[in-house]
Amino acid sequence: MVEDNKDLHSVENLKGVGPKISQSLKSLGITYIQDAMFHLPFRYEDRTVLTPIGEASYEKSVLIQGEIVKSTVVFRGRRMLFTEIYDGTGRITMRMFNFAMAQHKALKEGLMVRCYGSVTPGPNGKQMIHPQYQIFNKSEDLEVDNSLTPVYPTTSGLQQGRIRKVIKDSIDYCDNHNLLKETSSASMDSGFNNLWENLKFIHHPPAHIDIQTLIEGQHPAQRALIKEELVAHMLCAGILKNELEGRSGPAMEKITNTQNKFTSSLAFKLTNAQKRTWNEIRSDMTGKTPMRRLLQGDVGSGKTLVGALSALHAHENGWQTAFMCPTEILAEQHHLSLTEWFSPHDLKIELLTGSTNSSNRKEIVTKLQTGEINILVGTHALFQEDVIFNRLGLTVIDEQHRFGVHQRFSMLEKGGTKQLSPHQLIMTATPIPRTLAMTVYGSLETSIIDELPPGRKPVETSARPNSMRKKVIKRIEEVCLTGQRVYWVCTLIEDSEELEAQSAEELFKEISESLPNIDVGLVHGRLKKKAKDQVIKKFREGKIQLLVCTTVIEVGVDVPEATLMIIENPERLGLSQLHQLRGRVGRKADSDSHCLLLYKEPLTALAEERIRTMQKTNDGFEIAEKDLELRGAGDIFGVRQSGLMDLKIANPIRDSDLLEEAQNEAIIIAKDNDSFAKVIVRRWIGDRADYSES
Ligand code: ADP
Ligand code: MG
Repeated sequence: MVEDNKDLHSVENLKGVGPKISQSLKSLGITYIQDAMFHLPFRYEDRTVLTPIGEASYEKSVLIQGEIVKSTVVFRGRRMLFTEIYDGTGRITMRMFNFAMAQHKALKEGLMVRCYGSVTPGPNGKQMIHPQYQIFNKSEDLEVDNSLTPVYPTTSGLQQGRIRKVIKDSIDYCDNHNLLKETSSASMDSGFNNLWENLKFIHHPPAHIDIQTLIEGQHPAQRALIKEELVAHMLCAGILKNELEGRSGPAMEKITNTQNKFTSSLAFKLTNAQKRTWNEIRSDMTGKTPMRRLLQGDVGSGKTLVGALSALHAHENGWQTAFMCPTEILAEQHHLSLTEWFSPHDLKIELLTGSTNSSNRKEIVTKLQTGEINILVGTHALFQEDVIFNRLGLTVIDEQHRFGVHQRFSMLEKGGTKQLSPHQLIMTATPIPRTLAMTVYGSLETSIIDELPPGRKPVETSARPNSMRKKVIKRIEEVCLTGQRVYWVCTLIEDSEELEAQSAEELFKEISESLPNIDVGLVHGRLKKKAKDQVIKKFREGKIQLLVCTTVIEVGVDVPEATLMIIENPERLGLSQLHQLRGRVGRKADSDSHCLLLYKEPLTALAEERIRTMQKTNDGFEIAEKDLELRGAGDIFGVRQSGLMDLKIANPIRDSDLLEEAQNEAIIIAKDNDSFAKVIVRRWIGDRADYSES
């Protein structure tokens, strides 16, 4: 049995990878060259054929090439570079907002250019916005790729081309150093044969294969990897569970009057569902076994308050709480709600995120260790090693699907004692089928908030084509003038936060100009935190009535006065994401709220079905089910993208037929081959799993 643990090669061994890139790679979970091999594409681009410009249809991504006929910088509100390309069958304009003068110079008339991107209608006919391109001479004979081009999940500061190169080099490196090869052939089970070949295939599928099979995740190479990944997660959950067994939880038996005081100090009454779930949680927390409970409830059902009650209970018993959120905006918001709710009570609540400045951070870390802070709200920043609690008794994890199971487990180590394991409350709006949670997460108890606070009316949803844009803008004005507030969400342009920010800025300009009487604000991922904060604060206070934003707003932002949401290009989003977004409105009792899906024609059948579902129902569970049903087709690794789980290739819904087989194999491996178990877990889960240290 080969143990590839001992033989891990740092990514810095690769040419061109220095400390900066290796840091970015690390944030993607890639520390070693072997990890890079398991960083799998989430879709592919077909650049194996050149499409004649005349035949390129709208909304499809194609590879085209032609002669540069004209390249000019124009000024239309902002500087833009227009490059016209002709190939004998048609013309297309390459349009760029962000460009260097050197780029303009290089795109010389008479030279050839090859572009890959999606074709959209523009002011001069067909256009490609910010395509990937390559300039060459007429005399050159540029070949087309002979394998599909992988597209990888990436992070800001690390461009697609860069990560593609890192992975390509990693393949060569492993090949030359014979890494990942012995393990596969030496492994005990035939299902784990050919790991190396399968990985190579996934990174570079040959052009001739049936792309549909690949899209559906049915290719034998994919199936083998899927099974191995499922086994890895099952092993990991099992290993961690064993490590935790025998540890006791902080029994929080004391129940004081403070809780009643707290609930009666609120402006509203708890719903029955909140009361019931809180009772379930409290009964867990008084016990000696560490709580592992999932609190499911649709967006707007009031999960935060139940989390707050749990934190108060921990405090009453002399324990600290960590309140984990997936985004800064959400962390700030929870910090705000908790501070407000607990203001009549004597609790110290602090906020720690990646943007906390270093002197504040230092103070927080110190006070956390001395126990002066009772509740610490934060993001991934809480995982950092030097963040140590004095007496951590409870972790509340919000919107859990954004955190991996391993991070959940890593929070268990923050209590400062190895024998005692803090209680965990995991809150999510995404319903996870129980069987799935059991297999992949190990055991979890579930509480469900199946009721919305009184007076909430379902958000009425309608859809309009973009041609009715002017009317929509008019309607916004009417709504804002009655004192209500409006979101206009600009959806993600694939793979590019930059482009998304760009289009939000354009939209902001367009709307500010058409609505001079309305105060319009803008937030997107590229803004500094301070600027973002200010805008959201103003929106909350009503100093801004219309907020143009990107999907950064998706999780948790809570401004009850907002009653209308426009989602632009909803066809770009999955159902669950649309539902999450829509949950930002309809938060005020007895107010009618609307969501308007402003789509671009023509719609694909899939997009049409999603939009229809959104109009038909407000029920998060129904929507999640439909989402999973519609995924799979047209979305290679759907679950990963929906964020449902931290999986690289498996989609436990699509691949449910493999669950049982994987489970059986996991049991055998766990029993007979502990070192191989560790190899598999290391491969698929890597450093995220830290089990070796616990
Ligand atoms: P989610 O379950 O989506 O996290 P939140 O916790 O953000 O929902 O709650 C949504 C809104 O409902 C918040 O403004 C919150 O203060 C409010 N809320 C929570 N519980 C109640 C209740 N019982 N009655 C009225 N409003 C409530
Ligand atoms: Mg929430």
